[in-house]
Amino acid sequence: MGGAELLSADVAIVGCGPVGALLANLLGQAGLSVDIYDREHEIHALPRAVHFDGEVMRIFQAAGLAERIAAVTRASSKGMHFVNAEGRTLMVRRGVDGPGPHGWSGNWYFHQPILEEILRAGMARFPNVRVHLGREIADVGELNARYIVGCDGARSLVRRMIGSKQHDLGLHQPWLVVDLLCDPDSPRVKALPDYTVQLCDPVRPMTVVHVGGARRRWEIMLMPGDDPAHLTEPEIFWPMMARWLCPEDARLERAAVYTFHSVVQEGWRKGNLLLAGDSCHQTPPFLGQGMCAGMRDASNLAWKLAAVLRGDAPDSLLDTYESERLPHVRAFIELAVKLGAVLQETDPTAAATRDARFAAGAQMFDFPQPQLGPGCRAEAPPPVGTTFPQPKLADGRLMDDAIGQRFAIVGEAALLTHLRGDAVLLPGVGSEWLARHGVRAALLRPDRYIFDVAR
Ligand SMILES: Cc1cc2nc3c(=O)[nH]c(=O)nc-3n(C[C@H](O)[C@H](O)[C@H](O)COP(=O)(O)OP(=O)(O)OC[C@H]3O[C@@H](n4cnc5c(N)ncnc54)[C@H](O)[C@@H]3O)c2cc1C
Repeated sequence: MGGAELLSADVAIVGCGPVGALLANLLGQAGLSVDIYDREHEIHALPRAVHFDGEVMRIFQAAGLAERIAAVTRASSKGMHFVNAEGRTLMVRRGVDGPGPHGWSGNWYFHQPILEEILRAGMARFPNVRVHLGREIADVGELNARYIVGCDGARSLVRRMIGSKQHDLGLHQPWLVVDLLCDPDSPRVKALPDYTVQLCDPVRPMTVVHVGGARRRWEIMLMPGDDPAHLTEPEIFWPMMARWLCPEDARLERAAVYTFHSVVQEGWRKGNLLLAGDSCHQTPPFLGQGMCAGMRDASNLAWKLAAVLRGDAPDSLLDTYESERLPHVRAFIELAVKLGAVLQETDPTAAATRDARFAAGAQMFDFPQPQLGPGCRAEAPPPVGTTFPQPKLADGRLMDDAIGQRFAIVGEAALLTHLRGDAVLLPGVGSEWLARHGVRAALLRPDRYIFDVAR
């Protein structure tokens, strides 16, 4: 690897949460030498992410971990319903039937510690990835690597070293987050919806998610007068749950009070320091997209670091990482903040006005599909800078499995026969998509975002 004779590692990663662990897998697979550090030995035990989307499953596929992860997560074709206090549906984030455009189900529900265990086991496949648990980094000067990536979460040290500028998108609200292990034989548990509910009740907004198996998640907004230290005491907790469950239906597995934030940082890179995940953006969880954004960061950054460290691309390629990712993640956070304004309304009159806005019927929406910001792609409108779908090939394989961490060109067979180069050629693949967009070929980057199209 470039520079390996002078330096101990190509990349040092500070933080072995989900984002750092995925990045280590992707870099390990690319053959880079990686040191990853976490101050803790154990995986974070408090309740956090429960959902990821089809694009993130596709990234796990790129890391060679999709099958293992699919075996312990719950695929769902159902969406997310915003329901008012009377049970009327105001808005629905649509579900996805069957394998979606990414070749995988569009929504997956999971227990974050199990996902992180798989990511950690995945790192162990690579002798070139050295894991240092129980090792707090107090100063990046201790690290001996060509590049240092801060996957060190919301209170990032690496971010302080970079001196990033914070943009506050306005939402800061404390919520109680609990996981319950429910009795599957209880009639009340059987009656719980299998789609995600955002209960827009001004008396007490809540989120209800079927995580999988017996485990269900409730997120419960704190109201004036609540004492966070006592909310899980039975005489306070179960009355809040009365709409759904009684004490005999479930056991409280774990609980935490969080303040949900909406911030993006400007300055994801300074010299050899970079940021990914919660260290450079945080979103309220109303779309289930915070970790997903971090996984997209890792996917965007991994192939660029590999190209630069192999000597295939100049160091300036890494400057395209923030310019591409920041507007993309910002679109998700801005939508989450807007949804938060619907869900978190606690003034009864304003809630009634809100409900009246949806009187004509529920408003449907999807996850945003933003274009990457300007960077390593043609200066052109979408579909350039968006993801190319993942069809199955004639031999039954998913397209990405035939490409690996490389560029690829899909398109009309006659057009591709004239091409020479390093990119994988996939004649005839994605013809339906190409026809729909009126293009004859598309050049895909290793992260499957479209670099350019040929008309
Ligand atoms: C209630 C809740 C619900 C959520 N739901 C979803 C959801 O459904 N879907 C979704 O996509 N996201 C969700 N999220 C967001 C998701 O949990 C986070 O975005 C994700 O965990 C961030 O991962 P990360 O690896 O960037 O940071 P973290 O998981 O915070 O990991 C950072 C790691 O860095 C380590 N570290 C920090 N500083 C140092 C140092 N100086 N030296 C060594 N190690 C260090 C820490 O110990 C930690 O292990 C939710 C969050 C919450 C709170």
